[in-house]
Amino acid sequence: AGAARRLLSVLREIADEVGPRAGAVGRVADYIPALSGVDPAAFGFAVAGVDGEVLGVGDWEVPFSIQSVSKVFSLALALAGGDSLWARVGREPSGNPFNSLVQLEHEDGIPRNPFINAGALVVTDRLLTLTGDARGAVLELLRAESGNPAIDFDAGVARSEAARGDRNAALAHFMASYGNLENPVEQVLEHYFWQCSIAMSCRDLAAAGLFLARHGLRGDGSRLLDRSAAKRINSIMLTCGAYDAAGEFAFRVGLPGKSGVGGGILAVVPGRCTLCVWSPALDRHGNSVAGVDALDRFTTLTGLSVF
Ligand code: GLN
Repeated sequence: AGAARRLLSVLREIADEVGPRAGAVGRVADYIPALSGVDPAAFGFAVAGVDGEVLGVGDWEVPFSIQSVSKVFSLALALAGGDSLWARVGREPSGNPFNSLVQLEHEDGIPRNPFINAGALVVTDRLLTLTGDARGAVLELLRAESGNPAIDFDAGVARSEAARGDRNAALAHFMASYGNLENPVEQVLEHYFWQCSIAMSCRDLAAAGLFLARHGLRGDGSRLLDRSAAKRINSIMLTCGAYDAAGEFAFRVGLPGKSGVGGGILAVVPGRCTLCVWSPALDRHGNSVAGVDALDRFTTLTGLSVF
C-alpha cells in the first residue's frame, strides 16, 4: 500500500486525541470579519503520498482560507523563473511577527525571508513581472496539482483584506522607497491579497504541495523546480515557515512546514508524503494550536521527520 494508506491509522489516532481539544486553546483570526466567523472547533488532517493518493480524517475536505500557506506556491513559481529573486529577499528567520516592519530599515528594504509578509510581497512582485498575473499563476498551480479545477479565490476575504490592508501597504511602500518593488505598490498588494484569499481543503492543499516531497516534480511528472530549488524551499519552510515560532515548530515537529492565519499548516516529509492540517484557533504567533499539536504527535508517533 502507498504512504497515505499506511499512515491513515496514525491520523485517526491523532484526530481522536487532538480533535476534541480543537478550539479549546487559542483564538480565531479576527482582523477581518470573513475569517472571524469560522468554527474554532473545526479540525481536519490529510496525508498525500508521493504516489498521489490522498486520505484524511475529520474536516479534511472542508475548504478554508489558505492565507500565508499560499506563500510557498508563489515562491515556487518565482524560483521556477530563476535565482535572481535572492538579490531582493533573504533567508534568515526574522524572530519578529509576520507583519513586522522593524528590520526593513536596517536591512535596506530587503526582507529577511520570503515567508514574512514583506518577503512575500517581494515574491509576488517578482511573479507579477514574470507572468503578468501573479494571483492567477498561483491559482492555476494549485488547481493543476490538486486536480481540483473548482478551487477559487474568496472575493469577500480578498476585499476585506484590502480594506484592512494598511500594514501590508506600509510594508510595500517602505520597500518601494528602497527600490525593491518592480511593479506599482497597489498592483502588488492586490495580487498578494487575492492569492491569500484562495479557499481550499486539507485534501487539496496536501496534494498541491507534493512537488516539495517529490524534489521538484509535478503530478504529471514534469519538473516545476530543480532539486536544489525544492530543497531550498523546504529549508526555508523549516527555518521560517512558522514566523517567530519557527524554532519552536522545528523543535516540536521537525519538518518543513508553512502556516497561515486561516489555521492551515502544510508540512513535508521529503521523498515520502505531505501533510495538511487545519484548525482555525491560533496561538499568539498566528499558528494553529491544534495543527501544531497534531503534527508534533505525527512525527512523535511515526518517527518520520527530516532528522
Ligand atoms: N493575509 C494575511 C496578511 O497579510 C496573511 C498572514 C498570515 O497568514 N500569516 O496579514
